[in-house]
Amino acid sequence: MDKVIIIRFCEIGLKGKNRRYFENMLISNIKQSLKDIDYTFLELHNRYVISDFDEMDFDIICDKLKKIAGIHNFSVASVAKNDIDDIEKTVLSVVAEKQGTFKVETNRAEKNFPMISTEVSRYLGGKILANYAKNLKVNVKNPDFIVNVDIREDGQTFIFTDSIKGIGGMPVGSAGRGLLLISGGIDSPVAGYLTAKRGMRIDALHFQSFPYTGEAAKQKVIDLAKIVSEYNGGRLNLHVVSFTKIQEAIHENCPESFMITMMRRFMMRIAERLSKRIGAQAIITGESLGQVASQTIESITSSNSVVTMPVLRPLIMMDKIDIIDISEKIGTYETSILPYEDCCTVFLPKFPAIKPDLNKVLDAESKLDVDALINEAMADIEIIRL
Ligand code: ATP
Ligand code: MG
Repeated sequence: MDKVIIIRFCEIGLKGKNRRYFENMLISNIKQSLKDIDYTFLELHNRYVISDFDEMDFDIICDKLKKIAGIHNFSVASVAKNDIDDIEKTVLSVVAEKQGTFKVETNRAEKNFPMISTEVSRYLGGKILANYAKNLKVNVKNPDFIVNVDIREDGQTFIFTDSIKGIGGMPVGSAGRGLLLISGGIDSPVAGYLTAKRGMRIDALHFQSFPYTGEAAKQKVIDLAKIVSEYNGGRLNLHVVSFTKIQEAIHENCPESFMITMMRRFMMRIAERLSKRIGAQAIITGESLGQVASQTIESITSSNSVVTMPVLRPLIMMDKIDIIDISEKIGTYETSILPYEDCCTVFLPKFPAIKPDLNKVLDAESKLDVDALINEAMADIEIIRL
């Protein structure tokens, strides 16, 4: 294909001495993501170029690049020979469908090219106007789009006008490992996406209450985790723990209003134990302050107090409407709103404690053999590799 894709990163560029570490990680994530595709990868100063791919793979490549954390944006460029006539021909075809105001910006890395950058820009600007005066006008100060002409040392000139936004963030794997508590809801997949996007590679942990929750509810979580995996370097381990015995024990022995509070404390303890087992350094949840009774500061304090490792809550200060926006953007929303029950809804009390008194919670918990229940749940974890 006579097109190439130019990839740019942002924050990594600010990394000083550690920059190589982050770049290597980004390059390896890009290669991992494109592993089933034939192409050539070229590393230039501050950008990468993907070329020599089959036209049929073009859309797939773009879709994948849009999900790789650390990519700021990318441009699809047409390629000309380092020859002003060929450059002119290519520029005219690139702008043929465009309308509005433009300017030409030339970057001449090939110092032997017979014209200097400003001459090239002026020459091409004149040719564009001569051909498309009806649709296009020059505006040097504030153009609608820029015609970028990059005359390179290897004999090729890249020409492009637009850039496609990437998700930004930092390369997955550059910020350690975390364990995401994932439900079938809207919030936790978004929390997982935001975590991976900041560079933390995640595993996911889901609690199911079979037979109170069915196969469809579990499949929904698998589908959500699969979507999140695309932002997590293309893979994700989903750990599924049976929560049924624990819920029944709480239900039988403790005040109904503490059901959710106590479930949360078990979830957190198991999450911490599993994190240690798999080498995760933080627990991630989709909690948002005040969204529901279990997400008041008192409830969060209660569930937080049973673990010592960091608990990250990327959505803690976000409004639901903004969380929904992200879930639509990343493609989890449609699946999240499918109407299957979650383990937390099965034993939902009529009046959950909004501000659980920690002493009363501890008193209720003392009726249970907490360790034995956790050991039993931990003994039989299903791992689904996505
Ligand atoms: P979500 O949309 O993520 O389900 P929510 O608004 O329904 O969140 P809760 O049900 O209170 O809120 O859950 C709060 C957080 O607890 C979730 O974001 C998730 O991180 C975790 N969580 C809830 N249910 C489960 C579950 N069955 N398995 C694993 N984690 C869960
Ligand atoms: Mg939920």
